[in-house]
Amino acid sequence: MAHLCPVCGFDGLEEPPYDAMGNPSHEICSCCGFEFGFDDQSQGDSFSDYRKKWLAEGANWFDPARKPENWSLKEQLRRIGVER
Ligand SMILES: [Zn+2]
Repeated sequence: MAHLCPVCGFDGLEEPPYDAMGNPSHEICSCCGFEFGFDDQSQGDSFSDYRKKWLAEGANWFDPARKPENWSLKEQLRRIGVER
């Protein structure tokens, strides 16, 4: 079962970013590189701040090996209600 990244809309997270108690998974998104429990807490970035930075830097994949061949940034962002 895949989970959606609230930062970039990638639907390949192995675990939910936060459990029912609100504990972060500490998983790093293969797409945007956001680490739940680190970038949101230690770094204090909100999802939208991080997303803006990520997009400004060219929306590069953290783990390019996992990038789907027919990947569409636009479609992915639409999944989380972000228009670009
Ligand atoms: Zn992501």
